[in-house]
Amino acid sequence: QVKQQGGNHYSFYTPASDNELSERIDLEVALRYALERDEFQLYYQPQVSLKTGNIVGAEALIRWKHPQKGMISPMKFIPIAEENGLIEPIGEWVLHQACQDSKGWRSQGLGSLRVAVNLSGRQFRTPNLRQKLVQILLSTGCEPDYLELELTESLLIRDAELSIQQLQALKALGLKIAIDDFGTGYSSLNYLQKFPFDVLKIDQCFVRNLHTNKINVAITKSLISMAHLLNLKVIAEGVETQEELQILDEFNCDEIQGYLFSRPLSLEDFKAFVKSGTQLKVSQPHS
Ligand code: C2E
Ligand code: MG
Ligand code: MG
Ligand code: MG
Repeated sequence: QVKQQGGNHYSFYTPASDNELSERIDLEVALRYALERDEFQLYYQPQVSLKTGNIVGAEALIRWKHPQKGMISPMKFIPIAEENGLIEPIGEWVLHQACQDSKGWRSQGLGSLRVAVNLSGRQFRTPNLRQKLVQILLSTGCEPDYLELELTESLLIRDAELSIQQLQALKALGLKIAIDDFGTGYSSLNYLQKFPFDVLKIDQCFVRNLHTNKINVAITKSLISMAHLLNLKVIAEGVETQEELQILDEFNCDEIQGYLFSRPLSLEDFKAFVKSGTQLKVSQPHS
């Protein structure tokens, strides 16, 4: 049914019992307007050093505040944006915002905090991504070594040779590359060696219940030592308990992020949190 509202404005009515398809179409339509209507916001989850207990950076996580439906998870709308190509303007907005905010942290004296930005596959394969990044770094004044791009394995192995070239072109700008959700995808040691990564992020499924799950202990321990052999820094994601933290510390993990220390925060809350000087405390520091 189409209801005429006058002029050329129509609104489409969908059945009350929205099926998945019509919900998806609704989202897709709303997503087209979300950027110009300023409905996106970046949240920042602190990343903290296990050696010093200090915040060393933050991961930027996009939030979409839909005017009717409220907060919509990136797990829901990023795949849609990937499919219809909207990920390119959205991803560019994320990069610009994150670089601008992180430049702000340093110029406002909050510390030498870096920012990590998630990149989707389609965005990574945009031919002019490098040019876009140069523009963004210049216009925001963000120093490239304070920017880290997070990529997933599945995205990189599709065309490994091309991915390596693209990674090298990006790294030549001076930024850092992190492999996100490590262990959930193809996870070949061969790839870890071939790709020019700086950081390995251990997926939260391995961090979960580290104190009771022997398999996770073995996986996490070997991932950390392997990453260190390859000169990668290790960040454990999704740390929720002191017990998990304790074991990660014993295994010499470099940094953690997770609800235990802080949930993702709005820019204002993140800045206030950093200013509060909150430090990570490991219950029984080793040696
Ligand atoms: P990710 O990059 O692996 O991000 C980590 C996710 O784990 C985030 O979910 C974060 O809020 C959540 N998390 C952090 N600490 C904990 C914890 O202690 N426990 C639990 N259970 N969860 C924790 P979020 O923000 O919903 O993002 C989900 C995914 O959406 C991200 O996974 C990333 O793949 C994607 N994403 C988020 N922002 C962007 C973006 O700007 N661009 C792109 N392309 N993807 C994004
Ligand atoms: Mg990530
Ligand atoms: Mg992750
Ligand atoms: Mg994840």
